[in-house]
Amino acid sequence: MSEFKQKYIITPRYLSTPSKRRPGRAMSPGVRFIVAHDTGNPGSTAGDNVRYYENSRNEQSASAHIFVDHREIIECIPVFTGPPEKAWHVIYGVPTDDKMFGHDANDAAIGVEYCYGGGIDADEAYRKYVWIMAYACFRFSLDPRQHIAGHFILDPNRKTDPVTGLARSRRNYEQLLRDVALEFDECTGAATGGNALPITRESGTVTATVRLNIRQGKPSTLAPIAQVLSVGDVLAYTGWTDAGDPVNGNSRWYQDGNGNFFWTGGVVKQG
Ligand SMILES: [Zn+2]
Repeated sequence: MSEFKQKYIITPRYLSTPSKRRPGRAMSPGVRFIVAHDTGNPGSTAGDNVRYYENSRNEQSASAHIFVDHREIIECIPVFTGPPEKAWHVIYGVPTDDKMFGHDANDAAIGVEYCYGGGIDADEAYRKYVWIMAYACFRFSLDPRQHIAGHFILDPNRKTDPVTGLARSRRNYEQLLRDVALEFDECTGAATGGNALPITRESGTVTATVRLNIRQGKPSTLAPIAQVLSVGDVLAYTGWTDAGDPVNGNSRWYQDGNGNFFWTGGVVKQG
């Protein structure tokens, strides 16, 4: 794989160096994983955050590489648009980053900040947030299913991000990880209908217990609707996956013979 769909532009707006926030040290040994953050400051935009960092660049050492809102993706510490440098986005004292990835996040991870709340369009900001993490996996040969960790996982006693920010956008962390993986597959061309999903082959017949949407190609509430069924309609399935969008906490979806999907919670098995 050699190309990645360039859906968005990454805008470099580097902090001055040397400074506390940007000492200008190369990542070592290199980019090995990604930490998903949110700003913790509802309503602040990517531009607001980078401006604040620049103005206070010698007051604190906290920093991150990327800020994402609905309008732009700003890179304030070089990682994509210049040789990757360290940012200070996870404290060194916590053990989980070393355990999971063999390195401290500040030495070897890209810090990506999600802006949320206030006047920020949550869906558009989310799309950019998902894309930039998928792109980071592509650029640095990381596995989107293994090499992303939320800040709250690495520093559970002090942090809740990006869960808090995602919740304000009606999303959760598990969904984020799945969406980054799907975006990665789409942008690298790895996605081929439902084949990229882990599908368990099994067939049977079910009856709809709700007005049921058949989703085109993906077990996702965001996928286009191929057909709407009424209560009592009978339909056949040819497999199922647990990697669908969770609806009421249930992420198992059936696949039909056309490669489309419907949520298992909206049907009962026959006989
Ligand atoms: Zn954080």
